[in-house]
Amino acid sequence: MSIENNTIHKVVIIGSGPAGYTAALYAARATLNPVLFKGSAPNLAGGQLMLTSDVENYPGFPDGLLGPTLMENFEAQAKRFGTVCVDKNISNVDFSKRPFTLSTEDGDVIHAHSVIIATGANAKLLDIPLEKELMAKGAGVSACATCDGAFYKNVDVAVIGGGDSAMEEALFLTRYARSVTIIHRREHFRASKIMTERAEKNPKIKWMLNYVVDALVVNKKAPLNQESLSGLKLRNTVNNSTTEIAIDGLFVAIGHEPSTKLFENKLALDQKGYINTQAKSSKTEIAGVFACGDVQDSIYRQAITAAGSGCMAAMDAERYLEDNNL
Ligand code: NAP
Repeated sequence: MSIENNTIHKVVIIGSGPAGYTAALYAARATLNPVLFKGSAPNLAGGQLMLTSDVENYPGFPDGLLGPTLMENFEAQAKRFGTVCVDKNISNVDFSKRPFTLSTEDGDVIHAHSVIIATGANAKLLDIPLEKELMAKGAGVSACATCDGAFYKNVDVAVIGGGDSAMEEALFLTRYARSVTIIHRREHFRASKIMTERAEKNPKIKWMLNYVVDALVVNKKAPLNQESLSGLKLRNTVNNSTTEIAIDGLFVAIGHEPSTKLFENKLALDQKGYINTQAKSSKTEIAGVFACGDVQDSIYRQAITAAGSGCMAAMDAERYLEDNNL
């Protein structure tokens, strides 16, 4: 859709994951006529759930559903109450003057009394061939043990990383998997001592230190005869020797990156680059600018917590508009 340059929108939402769409749903039902910028990457608007297959932990769907289907549902529900969704990226924001100004890559200028930031975060990936494809198909690669661990019952899996996330994911996976191998590129861990010790004490956890993944190995697997991960080609970082191990699941736990580049020097970010929000709210330090979902949450990072904070942001925006007669 084209954007009316002269209109001052009550609520503009940036981001199309569970947080953004939930904020849109609540804002639309409050008759605030929200405009939501989905982003322009084909098939990727919709956030991290677009890169997962079965979602079994989103309440209300007892049989589970596909991540992309869940996001289609989110969008349809937000649109049902009048949300205008735009397939464009916001490339610049100016929060120094009111109304706020946002602009798109192709030159649209948008004015808004309030802005809800829901640009999310992305799990860092190894950036090797097949990684994203297998992840999207739910075929052996994941960046979230909480989401996908239950699909790996009684098989051998590996976790990449040496931080607290890797230890936590590995420990969680021992509930299901036959064995969990932690593969880390050096001998020292960023993980806290307590988490490392907990992992060391777990008899299901094995270690391959000083190794990196060079390639993913795939095989056609029953029952669907579809290509799925069957092993890893590894390289030793000390002596460059190579080896191959057989596994059915790979969990990449090498950290997350919030999508906050757009807001550097415009909003306060914490040490890890996440937007600071005020306690028990979605308020940033600029009145009228709110943040929700993974872009301000380095701890929980679940679709349901993102959706909950999207609801908070819409309610905060509604109150802000009311209090300021906007
Ligand atoms: P992190 O602490 O930054 O650790 C990332 C790990 O991944 C590091 O060991 C790093 O190796 C490795 N790595 C990074 N890029 C890699 C690559 N391309 N290939 C192979 N390995 C790579 O990230 P995190 O574990 O996600 O933790 C983030 C923050 O959340 C930390 O502050 C952590 O304490 C916190 N956290 C806390 C808990 C908890 O307390 N329960 C749980 C999870 C996370 P190098 O060490 O060699 O750089």
